[in-house]
Amino acid sequence: MSSSGRGELLRAHLFHTPRNPFRNDKGLESYSDGGLLFRDGKVVACGDYAEIHAAYPEVPTIDLRGGFLLPGFVDTHIHFPQLHVLGGMGRQLLDWLEYVALPEEARMTEPAYACQTAHAFVNALAAHGTTTALVFGAHFAGATASLFDAAEKSGLRLVSGMVLSDRRLRPELHQLPADAYRDSTDLIRRFHGKGRLLYAVTPRFALSASEAMLEVCQTLLRENPGVRFQTHLNENRQEIAEVARLFPWASDYLNVYERFQLGGRGAVMAHNVHPSDSEVERLAASSTAISHCPCSNAALGSGLFPLGRHIAAGVTCALGTDVGGGTGFGMLKECLQAYLLQRLAPDGVLLNPGHLLYLATRAGAEALGLDEEIGDFSPGKAADLVYLRPPRGSPLAAVIEQTGDPDRILAALFTLGGAESVREVRVEGAAVYRSPA
Ligand SMILES: [Zn+2]
Repeated sequence: MSSSGRGELLRAHLFHTPRNPFRNDKGLESYSDGGLLFRDGKVVACGDYAEIHAAYPEVPTIDLRGGFLLPGFVDTHIHFPQLHVLGGMGRQLLDWLEYVALPEEARMTEPAYACQTAHAFVNALAAHGTTTALVFGAHFAGATASLFDAAEKSGLRLVSGMVLSDRRLRPELHQLPADAYRDSTDLIRRFHGKGRLLYAVTPRFALSASEAMLEVCQTLLRENPGVRFQTHLNENRQEIAEVARLFPWASDYLNVYERFQLGGRGAVMAHNVHPSDSEVERLAASSTAISHCPCSNAALGSGLFPLGRHIAAGVTCALGTDVGGGTGFGMLKECLQAYLLQRLAPDGVLLNPGHLLYLATRAGAEALGLDEEIGDFSPGKAADLVYLRPPRGSPLAAVIEQTGDPDRILAALFTLGGAESVREVRVEGAAVYRSPA
């Protein structure tokens, strides 16, 4: 189907969060007989179907009633070379990296294996309704280029970069800072701003980066305006103690990045499970976003994320699946896990379905500095969407048949929805995934 010419009008129950529901109690908008009209990849109108149809009678309707239209999910933390190690159990972060994740990451030096993994990875993103992802690439330029190529072919929006490290991992994953600079610069020239691709400077974490490597990151950001930044922060207590030992001059973990001006709008740091109050305040002041990865935090025993402290301070928090420390590609599941862990966390936030939708969509767009382009269905934004329709006879279908209440429907989608409910995914109005059934 082409979205050029007259455009297309999709008719279904529609949800989006054009405003932040943590700050505005009308953040969530729901239209039970909704319409989404787009043309040339951009949203023209979103609201009640009858009103939009009356205003644009010439635009053909695609009747999708029985299912649900949501903005495409934005996954703000995920590792492409860890696809094959999903499901490792029984370890904590540093142990898991050494014995599970890093040996697999070392295999990305094989071009054919990296290429096959990249294609499987972007297919999995699309099949779960994710239209934009901030992705840790590989420690190798070739494998990272394979990921960008696969994303370009798929039509997904992808922000990624080669992972930089020069100590404490495995020798084959280390680069010299000069080589990191050269390879990163080359990848930025090839991929940053190409179609829907953006580059992110990506030191793995302070633990595996010398001061010379962090300086390279600083230089790359200064020389390439618009390039994003991603790394890890305060994930695990053992990691935090090691960082303190390696950077004795730093007042805390965040201060290591601050020393090299690594942060600010468009910068996303994953986890921050164990921050000081000062770190939370400084993240807010610098507009650095946090990617909260609740499945990973639970699976690796990292801890309970203090979401309430971040929200109160004004830090932008979005969600990440953290494949492969997490438990899969599903952002619906990640929302459920965020809800569950906040129920258990001391001073946990009681999240409602509107909060969860925001965390999975618009918050990610804000974190990436893409909220003018994506994240909700406001006119002028890209028509990036996921169409969910519960399988016939499933528990999800049974729950939804019994209620017309939008909050209950959305809550059921987060609780019971998975890839089997994702029927169609579009980026700028064009299909990037359709379920086989
Ligand atoms: Zn991670």
